Amino acid sequence: MAFSNAFLEEVKEKNDIIEVVGRQVPLKRAGSNYVGLCPFHSEKTPSFTVFPATQSYYCFGCGAGGDAVTFVMQTEGLDYPAAIEALANRAGIPVEEDGARTGERSVKKQRVIEATREAGRFFYAKLNSAEGAAAREYLKRREISDLTIKRFGIGYAPDAGFELTRYLRGKGFTEEELKASFLSGVSKKGNLYDIFRNRIMFPVFDLAGNPVAFSARRLNEADERKYVNTSDTPAFKKSKILFGLNIAKSTSDGTLILCEGAVDAIALHQAGFDNACATLGTAITPDHARIIARFAKTAYLAYDIDKAGRAATDKAMHYLNEVGVATKIINLGTEAKDPDEYIKKYGADSFRRRLKGSEGQNEYTLNTIIGKYNMDIPDEKAFAAREVTSFLATLTSGAERDIYTNFAAGKLGINPTMLADDVRRTAAYLRKKNKNDYDENMKRDAEGFGDKVNRDRVRFSSAATLEERILGIMITHPDLAPDAAGKLTENSFVTEFGRRVFAAFEESFRKGSAPQISAHGFTPAETARISRMMAQRETAHENSASVLDELITKLGRQKEMTEADEKIKEDPASSLADYIEKLRDKK
Ligand SMILES: [Zn+2]
Repeated sequence: MAFSNAFLEEVKEKNDIIEVVGRQVPLKRAGSNYVGLCPFHSEKTPSFTVFPATQSYYCFGCGAGGDAVTFVMQTEGLDYPAAIEALANRAGIPVEEDGARTGERSVKKQRVIEATREAGRFFYAKLNSAEGAAAREYLKRREISDLTIKRFGIGYAPDAGFELTRYLRGKGFTEEELKASFLSGVSKKGNLYDIFRNRIMFPVFDLAGNPVAFSARRLNEADERKYVNTSDTPAFKKSKILFGLNIAKSTSDGTLILCEGAVDAIALHQAGFDNACATLGTAITPDHARIIARFAKTAYLAYDIDKAGRAATDKAMHYLNEVGVATKIINLGTEAKDPDEYIKKYGADSFRRRLKGSEGQNEYTLNTIIGKYNMDIPDEKAFAAREVTSFLATLTSGAERDIYTNFAAGKLGINPTMLADDVRRTAAYLRKKNKNDYDENMKRDAEGFGDKVNRDRVRFSSAATLEERILGIMITHPDLAPDAAGKLTENSFVTEFGRRVFAAFEESFRKGSAPQISAHGFTPAETARISRMMAQRETAHENSASVLDELITKLGRQKEMTEADEKIKEDPASSLADYIEKLRDKK
């Protein structure tokens, strides 16, 4: 990595893991460690454990793990250099300038935020100038009040070539910074120009309340793109940010309303639903779902009533289910195409009634299936019944299945007992199939096929386990590491993963210092595995020099055996003779 060791040490020293994690996850002391509810999966009893001694965390529930740097990377969506910089900034450590990291990557998140903030001021002033007349007219037509304009900092990007660019250059922002902030582009001739032109500008804020991006709606309906949203920048990942959540998170009563775009969210806020938020130019992602789970137990989905909206609804139900957030689907009927239009036509009270009467997920799914078919045509009705049966068979609770079988039978106009019989048969079939799949998976796991991090485990499972115990002790007990490192080389390891971990940390091991587990380019899954090695040592009692010695000896034997195996494969006759000779010598 491009940062010096001394700098990384300082960043690590001044960012205690308890404090870094504690900013996002309430932690409780449990013996010498701390536990909390895992931010990476949904759980009711804490299995997310933070180990102050090794400055690491590991979730016994979902296997997420790492150190302070990994935690910031994963929860804030930053890459490694950006996470180091964020931690350095928080601790007031000047960030090293580094010639190797040039271009946009070296533009700091803080500068992007500052440029975005300045741009927001510029757009806001433009909206309230003579140039902004048409934009103000548009907002008036959309019934967006002055108060809302102020509250959301809505602005106007003038129809000019490089006015904003010139303004920001005047404020001291460099070309690199403006490009990295997605405010200026570069023409073929190499000149900077404004990316946003003749658009209504909706600033987007991160959870800390920093302006990080814009969602820009066209003012001229002839413009090709309805919305232009900021692309990912050092301060903004669209897969991780929800418009309006900076407000909704503090007003949420355990529920959030999820809609498609900034304008919908703003209309809902203005109508008094300040728990509304929106994804920006993208369908909901697993990251969004995890963020939502931190603030809400139930999400109301209010997507557009068209094909794309239905697809988005399905996706949202899926991802939110996975993180334990219940979903309800607001049925706006056919009178309005989106929440904004609905509220304008029928008012906030009517929307509130729709919210209360919103469909649970099963009801929504059944209505969607049945809605696709024409119930007057027997063939279509039969298809609908078949599809409904497959869905009902996936419901695992008997009561739930009974309730929705009756509901669907009513909708289809068929005999509930008959439908129930079909559902039972299909469910039995699925159970059998699932069991076969499950058995197959268990078998694969036992054979090591399931281990994607340490792929050699399938062939060398005892060696892989020994290596994890050895490395785990060496990482968590730096005082024992130099002695052990003296007895080991990369070649002592059987699996490729064990070899790589040893090589990465070898220098620290020899010096007897705790290695920086996030500083060696391991993937998140690999880092999590290293944390697991550490966590297992933390909870084990046998971590002494003699235990470590014994493990190393055992690994040596494993290594010999695998080498002998390899030789026998290459040259069966002579190798076998060698091996037997060797065994005799030993005796
Ligand atoms: Zn977890």
